Amino acid sequence: MDIGDRFQRADWKAEKHVPVIDCPGEVKAGENFKINLMIGKEIAHPNTTEHHIRWVALYFSPADEKFTYEIGRFEFNAHGEAVAGANEGPVYTHHAVDCWAMLKKPGTLIATSLCNIHGLWESSIDIQVS
Ligand code: FE
Repeated sequence: MDIGDRFQRADWKAEKHVPVIDCPGEVKAGENFKINLMIGKEIAHPNTTEHHIRWVALYFSPADEKFTYEIGRFEFNAHGEAVAGANEGPVYTHHAVDCWAMLKKPGTLIATSLCNIHGLWESSIDIQVS
């Protein structure tokens, strides 16, 4: 068993766990651009103490290189926990985040995420650099 085998992939329009990467398909070399990462973009994922998205991470794999680079990791830490009990808390972190990056070469953006009860998910998109 390889940890890579445990990452689930699916069509994000039909499966609420898939991290959706929203960014331009082509960017200019050396110019920062915005990348939105969101889970449950088409079908809402629950956000409760018992069932929620814990984190999303973003990686870049250059087209002509062996190694993959981590762009960022984002934790979603509040899910209604409180002294009074589950879902009695005043705050819930939404499972979406914007980050900015710049690239020098084309490759693939890869997002991974974790649902506390439904495991690991991933998605990727190719990005061109001009
Ligand atoms: Fe889930």
